[in-house]
Amino acid sequence: MDLVQKDLQHIWHPCSQMKDYEELPPIIIDHAKGLYLYDVDGKKYADVVSSWWCNLLGHCNPRINNAVKNQIDKLEHVIFANFSHAPAINLCDSLSRLLPKGLTKFLFTDNGSSAIEAAMKMSFQYHYQTGQPQKTRFMALSDAYHGETVGALSVGGVDLYSQIYKPMLLDIIRVDGPDCYRCRYNQHRDSCQAQCFADAEAAFAEHADTVCAFIAEPLVQGAAGMRIYPPLYLKKLREACDKYKVHLIADEIATGFGRTGKLFACDHAGISPDIICLSKGLTGGYLPMALAVTTQTIYDAFYADYGEGKAFLHSHTYSGNPLACSAANEVLAILKEEQILEKANENAPYFHQLLLDSLADHPHVGEIRSIGLINAIELVADKSSKQPFDSGKRIGYQIYKKTLAKGVVLRPLGDVLYFNPPLTIKRADMPAIIQVCRECINEILG
Ligand SMILES: *Cc1c(COP(=O)(O)O)cnc(C)c1O
Repeated sequence: MDLVQKDLQHIWHPCSQMKDYEELPPIIIDHAKGLYLYDVDGKKYADVVSSWWCNLLGHCNPRINNAVKNQIDKLEHVIFANFSHAPAINLCDSLSRLLPKGLTKFLFTDNGSSAIEAAMKMSFQYHYQTGQPQKTRFMALSDAYHGETVGALSVGGVDLYSQIYKPMLLDIIRVDGPDCYRCRYNQHRDSCQAQCFADAEAAFAEHADTVCAFIAEPLVQGAAGMRIYPPLYLKKLREACDKYKVHLIADEIATGFGRTGKLFACDHAGISPDIICLSKGLTGGYLPMALAVTTQTIYDAFYADYGEGKAFLHSHTYSGNPLACSAANEVLAILKEEQILEKANENAPYFHQLLLDSLADHPHVGEIRSIGLINAIELVADKSSKQPFDSGKRIGYQIYKKTLAKGVVLRPLGDVLYFNPPLTIKRADMPAIIQVCRECINEILG
């Protein structure tokens, strides 16, 4: 039996209607290098979505490979309660110098969703232990995405993922977030005053007494369709959180490590959250690891004699895995020594311009938005009214299948096609990828 048949016999793939695989069977990848994946038949695919936004510096980066190989012969894993090791210590030491100010206490988890859960529990327990036990609820933006576990899914606002589970989810205070392409105030994100923050302001005024934290994806709401909003909104959010004594949890799982052109998206607004969640690019996309990083103030509220029962009794078996830490340390070294971000920022306007030249005039391209190397193409049925396609037509998915045939992994979010390539993508790789994108849009939409 060949690999595809065995796969279909045994494997339940993530975020997939498995019946779709009858028509589009799994592509069996044999090896990868840089931007490209190679399947078992030798066919090459440009991984322009960075394998779900995690591959930061290309596949099988020789330096990261070596770092992990060296680590594995020394220490593969060790219990992280009472024990520690240099890779984790050095990682936190380096990150504390790079993160927004004040984020100095590091809690390890093993995936993004679990970092969100940890952040939520941390904020909840902080308020419980500092004489504000009535602050138990969370505020979050419409169309937010924070992961798939029950707490993370609760703060998420993408109905596609959460609707069915509503009866088992937390009751969240949902704020109408920024939707710049279809701005309710008829403004443009480059020049607005974040007027849409009014909805958040009203929700703070009404509910803040019972709220422990506001969670948001800074500047880019990824799963919502790479929705990009201005730093001013984030600044206003920080100010409101201060005013109403609500923690700000920044979910930088997708935006961290240079994806937006700065090391962290919060840096665009010059703000520091009370807790930041990191994963995906953290290990260069090599190994599952995540962090919830917080302030001395929050940490101190848990620091007491054992008998007071104030400890944060949250743990994951693979906390602080040395292999993942060794990958992460090498990622930080490469970012610095090879001026990765500087080079990515030189290439980003070039990439965006190529896309504009190729597709801005297309009758079904509503908007091409970008930040850093992230570029998203929102397809619409009608450009002037911004009317979306009927979702049942699965336009994005039809185009995706065409691009796969032509060797580009342009996995869409609904009818938003997006590029979120490794920061190391070369200019020479860009025209062919955009050409495929354009051809496939035309094949489906004429
Ligand atoms: C991917 C993602 C998560 C969830 O991370 P997992 O490792 O998939 O659990 C949470 N928030 C954002 C913004 C993400 O992009």
